[in-house]
Amino acid sequence: MNKTSEQALQVLQSVFGYQSFRSSQQAIIDTLLAGGDALVLMPTGGGKSLCFQIPALLREGVGIVVSPLIALMQDQVVALQQLGVKAAALNSSMDVTQARQIEAQLLAGEIDLLYVAPERLMSSGFQDLLRQIRIALFAIDEAHCVSQWGHDFRPEYIQLSALHEQFPEIPRVALTATADEPTRKEIVQRLGLEQAQQFISGFDRPNIRYRVAANSSSTRQQLLRFIKLDYPDQAGIVYCLSRRRVDETAAWLQQQDIKALPYHAGLSKQERAANQERFLREDGVVMVATIAFGMGIDKPDVRYVVHLNLPKSLEAYYQETGRAGRDGEPAEALLFYGLQDVVTLRQFVVNSDADEAHKRIESQKLERMLGYCELTTCRRQALLAYFSDPMDEPCGNCDTCLNPPETWDATVAAQKALSCVYRTGQRFGVTYLVDVLLGKLNERIQSFGHDQISTFGVGDELNATQWKGLYRQLIAQGLLQVDQQGHGGLRLSETCRAILKGEQSLFLRKEQKAERKAAKKRKSSFAGAKGELWEALRKKRLELAEEQGVPPYVIFHDSTLLSMMEYHPENRQQMARISGIGERKLESYAEAFLQVLAEHPAGTTKASQQSDTVAESIELFRSGLNIEEIARQRELKATTIYSHLADGIEKDKIALNDVVELDEKEISRIQDMLLDLGEGQRLKPVFDALDGRVDYGVLRCIHASLE
Ligand code: ADP
Ligand code: ZN
Repeated sequence: MNKTSEQALQVLQSVFGYQSFRSSQQAIIDTLLAGGDALVLMPTGGGKSLCFQIPALLREGVGIVVSPLIALMQDQVVALQQLGVKAAALNSSMDVTQARQIEAQLLAGEIDLLYVAPERLMSSGFQDLLRQIRIALFAIDEAHCVSQWGHDFRPEYIQLSALHEQFPEIPRVALTATADEPTRKEIVQRLGLEQAQQFISGFDRPNIRYRVAANSSSTRQQLLRFIKLDYPDQAGIVYCLSRRRVDETAAWLQQQDIKALPYHAGLSKQERAANQERFLREDGVVMVATIAFGMGIDKPDVRYVVHLNLPKSLEAYYQETGRAGRDGEPAEALLFYGLQDVVTLRQFVVNSDADEAHKRIESQKLERMLGYCELTTCRRQALLAYFSDPMDEPCGNCDTCLNPPETWDATVAAQKALSCVYRTGQRFGVTYLVDVLLGKLNERIQSFGHDQISTFGVGDELNATQWKGLYRQLIAQGLLQVDQQGHGGLRLSETCRAILKGEQSLFLRKEQKAERKAAKKRKSSFAGAKGELWEALRKKRLELAEEQGVPPYVIFHDSTLLSMMEYHPENRQQMARISGIGERKLESYAEAFLQVLAEHPAGTTKASQQSDTVAESIELFRSGLNIEEIARQRELKATTIYSHLADGIEKDKIALNDVVELDEKEISRIQDMLLDLGEGQRLKPVFDALDGRVDYGVLRCIHASLE
């Protein structure tokens, strides 16, 4: 029978519960159904799995999926079983009896999708087995592992070239998220995919918001606010450079009542496995980790990735941030970086065992990473350009797009900073240089006689933090270099001559704090009745997941729960229309979730919606945001927020003094004036009497305190 596109769509809807295909999925599936080969390059979260899962279900026989990581295999198998698909995995973690059992099922034609490790697939015993069964297709996942130049080379993958010779008539599809042009060519050549149709989707991850902030003494507090306010009870990853910083950060977050766990190579194998398991199985775990964590983590609902240190290249940054938002829902990548990172990473490069050519490449990559941090234009455009995937317009979803940075004329300050480096002999680090500029009379400076040089004490216009920021930017721009020995001493580069001579001016970006702007569109933290429903749905999901020993997202993704909240289905029929609910899941879970929904009737009345929005503002205010910040985050006017807070004051949920920054006397004077107003009179007379000095919003709050 000729398998048509319609059948594929039907499987998408009935098994997976999705309405329509994404971009190239349909074309890839059609190619495989027609018996052709395909090479698929799609970013993480693009939806690669469906491309081989659906044809495997539609073609006769079993789909064989080659995958390098046991954890990934297990995840996919569990997820497929939840959909009612007959899936299994064969790998080294199982004993002989288990393996035999699966082989028997294979021979009996009881399996639709089989995940295997490459070395097992190519073993002669398994090849014999394969010759006795019908094979629907071969899918080679993480195909870049075949490339010796790639970052994940696995020798076992090389043998996969023989597949084509052994089974020339079986369609093959190779899939990857990370192949650049040379790697792609190598995949084609090594796997004999010259005839394969190529589907290249570009690198953009539009749902990830990119942000970069300068490291400062308040970084921890900023991190805390970010986690608590923007992503409460959501899963996230916080990357640090050192194990010590991982341990400290995790411990500190725990003290702040955040479910944070550490992960690095210094922990025992058991500890690492246990923490990873909790990250996957529980809701809202924050993993604080070195880059040892992340490979093979397929968790779809990681809402953010924070870097507390600079990654060593844009490739690493893209890969690490790419672990956020695989489910396509809004996610965020927040990077904090500072001068010390630059020095430390330079030291790594200099002290590594690599040859000179390699070191040069590494340090160029670091330069590009630094350049990215100091951008005043769209970050996504720069990131994609780096991967030769140009984007015509600024993205509108990165910090520079959302909040264009101001620049300032730093020429004179830079001249001072540079000449201070020169006059002190090009061997001191930033802290010392800043002390000289600010005219600190300490023993060290005096012993070198640097209190006598012309740049001593000429730096009043900036404070120490600002000077440090300036030095960081000068290094990032390549105007200064960190010494080869790695002590952090600075030297002038050839390029700074023009600035020192005043032939060229220098504009730099003004330092910004991490601008808090939570991801838009669908939010996943709610207040009031909505919040209760959200929590109840998540609780139900966790309960069902624990019963079966699977991660919660395998039951339903967040996006599916969010749709339930949005559409509030009341019966099975309505439930079936929710994206992510196929026939099997409807069967298994509709009842349980319909009950939860029935216990939380839809808040369609105006009154309950109103009380939700008021509650949300009050909650944000209590958590430490000021009115402007709340307004920005909620995309409402400040006056609206004031009226919400007035409501909270009236109901004694918040104190007037916390909202209004006037002294007691002034407040009681205004209270008297307001009391003099007649019943039902507007605030205007008071506003006018105060010559408009006090905002209507403030007046409303003071008025509320009288009720
Ligand atoms: P990748 O392997 O490319 O990283 P996945 O195959 O894991 O991505 O898919 C990412 C997410 O997108 C999964 O949650 C998947 O269920 C979802 N998805 C894939 N295709 C569709 C579609 N056509 N409609 C809705 N959701 C989809
Ligand atoms: Zn942008």
